[in-house]
Amino acid sequence: METTYVTKAKIKPIIINSVLLISVLFVLSNKAYAQNNDSVTIASLESQIRIRAAEIEKKMIGWREDIHQHPELGDAEMRTSKIVADQLNHLGMEVTTGVARTGVIGILKGGKPGATIALRADMDALPVKEPEGLSFASKAMGTMRGQQVNVMHACGHDTHTAMLMAAAEVLSGMKQDIPGTIMFIFQPAEEGSSIVDPTTGDIWGAQLILKEGWFKKVKPEAVFALHVMVGPSGAIFFKSGATTAGSENFTLKVSGRGGHGGMPWSTIDPVPTAALIVSGLQTTVSRKADLTKSPAVVTVATLQAGSNPNVIPDSVFMSGTIRSYDKDFQNKLDSDVTLTAEKIAESQGGIAKITITPNYPATINDSKLADQMSPVLKRVSNNVSESPLQGASEDFSFYAKEIPGLFIFLGITPKDQDPATAAPNHNPHFFVDETALITGIRAMASMTINYLVSAANTKKNK
Ligand SMILES: [Zn+2]
Ligand SMILES: [Zn+2]
Repeated sequence: METTYVTKAKIKPIIINSVLLISVLFVLSNKAYAQNNDSVTIASLESQIRIRAAEIEKKMIGWREDIHQHPELGDAEMRTSKIVADQLNHLGMEVTTGVARTGVIGILKGGKPGATIALRADMDALPVKEPEGLSFASKAMGTMRGQQVNVMHACGHDTHTAMLMAAAEVLSGMKQDIPGTIMFIFQPAEEGSSIVDPTTGDIWGAQLILKEGWFKKVKPEAVFALHVMVGPSGAIFFKSGATTAGSENFTLKVSGRGGHGGMPWSTIDPVPTAALIVSGLQTTVSRKADLTKSPAVVTVATLQAGSNPNVIPDSVFMSGTIRSYDKDFQNKLDSDVTLTAEKIAESQGGIAKITITPNYPATINDSKLADQMSPVLKRVSNNVSESPLQGASEDFSFYAKEIPGLFIFLGITPKDQDPATAAPNHNPHFFVDETALITGIRAMASMTINYLVSAANTKKNK
């Protein structure tokens, strides 16, 4: 009895264990099969992207040079958006123009059901005068809030537009194989609007697209964008988490009481008060900010006082920017800047009035998306590295606050130049090596395909 009992007790776990082992093996082999199947699909789709991107490269460079030669300021991208809309219509997409004033949105439906993702390119240029040299250099003029200005694509948004137009054609050509929907956002006014006065609280660009409800309508579950940047040609760099700075602008008026330059004791001179404030503001970052939380910058960029050597003015005006990578940190910085300015003015018998206007929040890249796309981008470029924090800001940050976003950089410095000394974005000598741009088409298309295929497979395996 005892023996029988012992045997039975031993057999039972063996049977259970075997069943468990077989089930586990079955699930594992099924998963391996599915993964194998994914990688076969993805490898063949990526090789299609490689071929199609090479085929369209020349046409894309033509678009880029044409857009470069005819740059338009934020919210005035009439010609550019017409070129984009014509291309998206030609590809048979569902196209809406006049998005956020001058933007274009195209919807590409894949041949199979699946998730929706968004790809964004910005189209606007800057009030910068382009030097002569390039055969397609800009001679364009534009109107910046009533003022005539020279216009140049000094931030490379011409390349973003051309690369995304090309990626749209690449992906359209493969749409039967695409599980899901792709939303192409050709956004106006990333650098700011040429018609809206920012102090009125009116909005533009990414913020306006979101306010118009485009994410609610189309429901993308992730968003990607790419920015050209000084760096080895064809290199891709990006980072998880905080990427571009959150920025705010401030204006500051120091009021005193004007009078004769020879009798300052009978005045409240706002000029030395303003000088003390400029110095005092330097201590907000260097002495008060916890740099383990976020790097930060407080810059006074303009200073206007008086008009005559023997007249002490009533007031002094200054303006500048406050930047960091963390919202709470930025709030603390704002109150330190305000307190410093107000108390210094008070100590001198004057009054400081500061107005801080939020510009763009910090761009926070989704860590899961960054991890997921890292091997994808390594198949696109053989030079992929972690990006340092960028001091510039980007209105892509608004999209990335709504849904997981990934903002990557593409190096465009020609091989015979040192990226460390090459003219940066916004400089009139900013130069793009066009051979890098094919990498941008492939990066955008490959991230899209990988995201959608893996989302479809995850759903299937559930
Ligand atoms: Zn820019
Ligand atoms: Zn830019």
